[in-house]
Amino acid sequence: MTPYDDIAPRPPLVDGFGRTVTYLRLSVTDRCDLRCVYCMAEHMTFLPKAEVLTLEELDRIASAFVSLGTRKLRLTGGEPLVRKGMMGLVRNLSRHLASGALDELTLTTNGTRLAEFAPELAAAGVRRINVSLDTKKPDLFRRLTRGGDLSKVLAGIAAAKAAGLSVKINTVALKDDNAAELPELIAWAHGEGLDLTLIETMPLGEIEADRTDQYLSLAQVRGELESFWTLDDLPLSTGGPARYVRVAETGGRLGFITPLSHNFCEACNRVRLTCTGVLHTCLGQEDATDLRAVLRAGASDAELVAAIRGAIDLKPKGHDFEIARAQPAVTRHMSTTGG
Ligand code: SAM
Ligand code: SF4
Repeated sequence: MTPYDDIAPRPPLVDGFGRTVTYLRLSVTDRCDLRCVYCMAEHMTFLPKAEVLTLEELDRIASAFVSLGTRKLRLTGGEPLVRKGMMGLVRNLSRHLASGALDELTLTTNGTRLAEFAPELAAAGVRRINVSLDTKKPDLFRRLTRGGDLSKVLAGIAAAKAAGLSVKINTVALKDDNAAELPELIAWAHGEGLDLTLIETMPLGEIEADRTDQYLSLAQVRGELESFWTLDDLPLSTGGPARYVRVAETGGRLGFITPLSHNFCEACNRVRLTCTGVLHTCLGQEDATDLRAVLRAGASDAELVAAIRGAIDLKPKGHDFEIARAQPAVTRHMSTTGG
């Protein structure tokens, strides 16, 4: 029996502000087959393998969270589908879906390897995935991802749909690059029966470009869309920074993720684990608990649970982003933390 298969009810994870943590995002690798300009430097130095959690360690930490009431797990990265043995991890974690302890096992992917893995993901009980796509123009895609092939992502999306997965598109809004294309992209996604969520760029990690040059306010985008579409607010709340509308003309759902606004911290239900086992209880703060050190010191299950509870107790009230600052608010990259 693997640890935590016997999920005895334990008191849930409640932080010092009374928020219950039910959602864990797990970065399974810092590596990626793309180099999106807003996410990574062109020549990234990736972590030595020994620093990255093994698949067993990832399973153990994720399962400890499930035993503490986590209902949703999102696997991310880097690019989760480039991690060797990834499907084994997904199949192992799916035992918590089968037992009813977990409501959802999902992932965020750039889609390049989805054509290969979509059937296996669906077979393991994954129902929904997020695919990141900022443009449908092959040349712009190649430039934004520094060499990526758009046709692979489109084939991946088609394969996911064919496997019965529901796909949500994530699009980072970039002032100079895709601002004008956004309505077309939204109409395409909705025509394909896919939800689409727009994301504001966040000041995470050092990259070459000046981020304030790329920043496009979603309030502005929304205003422009409303000049020709009717956007009806939806009550849907995920406990995260996304707000949703229905576009009357397309019938599709559109999300806005505005991490720079402070309006969602009160309901925050999520924490993140980096691929090196560092638990961050707030995306916009430097707070960190090294769970890898706990595991590698030979911690018992009870000690691991105690370390997790200790970190959650200290979850900060809110974040501290400010795009106008010269330095990123947080020095770690999105690819290490997971999006
Ligand atoms: N490789 C996968 C992907 O691209 O979907 C998963 C990891 S990626 C870091 C997760 C999400 O973060 C993607 O949708 C990506 O567009 C977004 N992202 C990366 N850097 C960002 C930044 N600086 N600001 C806002 N979103 C960012
Ligand atoms: Fe890779 Fe995703 Fe970052 Fe793009 S956004 S470089 S696909 S991790």
